[in-house]
Amino acid sequence: MSQRIPSETDIIIIGGGIVGASVAYHLAKRNVSNVVLLERRRLTCGTTWHAAGLVGQLRATLNLTRLAKYTAELYTGLEAETGQATGFKRTGSLAVAASPGRLEELKRGASMARSFGLEVDILSPAQARERWPLLEVGDILGAVYLPKDGQTNPVDTTQALIRGAKSRGVTVIEDSKVTGIHTAGRRVTGVRVATGDIRAKVVVNCGGLWARDIAGWVEATVPLHAAEHFYIVTEPMAGLAPGLPTLRDADGCTYFKEDTGKLLVGWFEPRAKPWGMNGIPDTFSFETLPEDWAHIEPLLASAMRRVPALESATVQVFFNGPESFTPDDRYLLGESPEVRGLYVAAGFNSIGIQSAGGAGKVLADWIVDGHAPVDLWDVDIRRVVPFQRNKKYLRDRTVEALGLLYAMHWPFRQAETARGVRKSPLHDRLSARGACFGEVAGFERPNWFAPEGVKAEYEYSYGRQNWFEFSAAEHRGVRERVGLFDLSSFAKFIVEGRDAERVLSRICAANVALSPGRIVYTQWLNERGGIEADLTVTRESEDRYLVVTSCATQVRDLTWLRRHIPPEAHAVAVDVSAGYTVLAIMGPNSRRLLSLVSDADFSNEAFPFGASQVIDLAYARVRASRITYVGELGWELYIPADCAQCVYDEIVAAGRGEGLVHAGYHALNSLRMEKAYRHWGHDVGDEDTPLQAGVAFAVDWDKPEGFIGREALLAQRQSGVRRRLVNFRLEKDGPLLYHNEPIWRNGQLVGRVSSGMFGHTVGRPLGMGYVESDEVVTPEWIAAGRYELEIATERIPASASLRAFYDPSGLRIKA
Ligand SMILES: Cc1cc2nc3c(=O)[nH]c(=O)nc-3n(C[C@H](O)[C@H](O)[C@H](O)COP(=O)(O)OP(=O)(O)OC[C@H]3O[C@@H](n4cnc5c(N)ncnc54)[C@H](O)[C@@H]3O)c2cc1C
Repeated sequence: MSQRIPSETDIIIIGGGIVGASVAYHLAKRNVSNVVLLERRRLTCGTTWHAAGLVGQLRATLNLTRLAKYTAELYTGLEAETGQATGFKRTGSLAVAASPGRLEELKRGASMARSFGLEVDILSPAQARERWPLLEVGDILGAVYLPKDGQTNPVDTTQALIRGAKSRGVTVIEDSKVTGIHTAGRRVTGVRVATGDIRAKVVVNCGGLWARDIAGWVEATVPLHAAEHFYIVTEPMAGLAPGLPTLRDADGCTYFKEDTGKLLVGWFEPRAKPWGMNGIPDTFSFETLPEDWAHIEPLLASAMRRVPALESATVQVFFNGPESFTPDDRYLLGESPEVRGLYVAAGFNSIGIQSAGGAGKVLADWIVDGHAPVDLWDVDIRRVVPFQRNKKYLRDRTVEALGLLYAMHWPFRQAETARGVRKSPLHDRLSARGACFGEVAGFERPNWFAPEGVKAEYEYSYGRQNWFEFSAAEHRGVRERVGLFDLSSFAKFIVEGRDAERVLSRICAANVALSPGRIVYTQWLNERGGIEADLTVTRESEDRYLVVTSCATQVRDLTWLRRHIPPEAHAVAVDVSAGYTVLAIMGPNSRRLLSLVSDADFSNEAFPFGASQVIDLAYARVRASRITYVGELGWELYIPADCAQCVYDEIVAAGRGEGLVHAGYHALNSLRMEKAYRHWGHDVGDEDTPLQAGVAFAVDWDKPEGFIGREALLAQRQSGVRRRLVNFRLEKDGPLLYHNEPIWRNGQLVGRVSSGMFGHTVGRPLGMGYVESDEVVTPEWIAAGRYELEIATERIPASASLRAFYDPSGLRIKA
């Protein structure tokens, strides 16, 4: 292309697939036209050109569903707007269930879908067959139909987005490969192309399969790996009516799409074939990968069982093309925590066509406004940790990641590949005690402990899983005696310097002008009053603080912290997470137990709630902090990692006489739900304010220097909130709550559950969730309602409370 390449622009987009095109289109719609999109070869030549073009709308969370729904709406009107045909049609989609677990998954999904405003019908096997006459329903238990799902032509849709972008002033240049990204002080300054440099303050990496390597040029982490992805297309088949809905048989790992009388059959097999281990060839353009009949043979057999007419069909095309997959099967969006001005939209796990509209829109808003328009934590690039760039890890995880799209999404499901990356120094000891580990950001954490003679392995279901009673015993051990939790996966940062107090005071909503040895629970707010982080801050000395937050938000919170330390301030933030092992010793016997292994004074007078002291414990010097996430008397011990084993061994030996139990994260979750302690990422996030989340007690409104978000929060305090986090307890002990179950008040949909767990002391499934109203939501309004929570389409009465269901006055903590 002989198009002139400018030397400077506002925003550069790398990659002309459907995602880059959508980002360009939406930036233009936000009136940012000084945008250059650079494509190394031809538009759509990477993965986009060969996608099957399914546009489903139901995703795992409200905001991702909103985004997919927006995509379908956008594609509906794109042809009329741009004059470029897209091929988009609303054919609907039909998902069938051949097992009870799958039927429950579909029904739970249907409840969620309706609460998100999607049309959805539950069908009997016979009704499913009416919609899809070639379908074999002998073993089908039920089906779900979404009439507004669609199909599109990915190439034409990309061209329509490009046309829409160009008509608003965006420059699109093909045959122009970006070969480098320029930075100054970890901030983007432009890119390099064959003809020279282009200066820009924002670069958007929409490089598809290449996105990991592109980010690697500037040491940024974009963990994705390509895998081979297969479908076949038949010759025209008799009896295949035009406009059939997309058919999904997830138990058979298969989808079916009618296309001009032919049938496209594609798969999400449980063991995928990673591809491009040594890099993606530079010449790769509109290319396909070799056929592999042996790989798809068992899948084809199951497709023929579902649609027997396939047996006599002739295959016209065997298609194999690469797509990129991420370690958790969710895409990667937002500004890189490592390089300012470098945005990413990549790793679309085979749903890039249906995601592109929404992802492009919110990323454009993010770039223009400086923050995400809605809570996008599920796909936020800040959830990934640096080791996840490791190629061996990515290759091994990708074997599993592709199939997860259609696998059963069991509650508590754990990845099976690429495990054992980050471990506590106590890992082997806990394993010997029967720990069954779950993984968060690569960190192995005990979720529950199997008693002697029981295998530490999950048996998944939607009901009470095999570990339910073991975890209940751990829970009771903590409430009644004393429990030990390994919380080493906590992220820990030291903030140090003469200005540490001043800097943290501005970032934290709570008062951090504490005396040394005091701990405070606080939120970090954005300018809109939304909760960016929910954590504790301990003042270690005049000029040194310890910040403790969750494992999942390690990168996010550290980035927020560092970006809010003014350049002239005398303060640095250092990540010391791996340096400390954390043991929580919780329960009424914790004081007595700790007194057996330390000569420190653990009395209320010497060691009140909220205090933190460095003490002798075993042969080590340990920071003991009197604080709790389970609602009992207890201490968190911050132990230098090299002393962890000696401290643990002494505590366990002394604990025998005190009835010490080892407890895991499932028990922790049950305990904290009874106490109504919030979990960032579920119950609180950047769209929720402390007033809405019910944690305004932690806000110091009157600090002389204020704090970020104070003005927005004050205004909200004045006007009152229309959303409020409420605790729920089912009135009957039946199905379990997990996440996203609709909340009904007096027969009206008012919200959905943000987290759910069985409360073993309360003896009922518990949930938390925001309720919303047009009026101000007051305690009286909440008390006046009659509530039901909907689980798999059944509404179950529940009681609502603003107070915790267990020890609401906190007497046990202060015992
Ligand atoms: C077989 C198959 C079926 C699929 N079916 C569906 C489906 O039904 N529904 C659905 O939603 N999704 C589907 N997908 C997934 C979908 O195709 C992808 O998620 C989507 O196309 C990804 O788009 P992208 O823009 O991120 O990547 P790409 O289309 O790969 O675009 C990236 C672009 O970046 C360019 N580039 C790379 N490096 C540079 C550089 N240095 N300089 C300039 N340009 C560069 C590349 O040339 C490429 O054009 C399917 C995928 C496959 C393989």
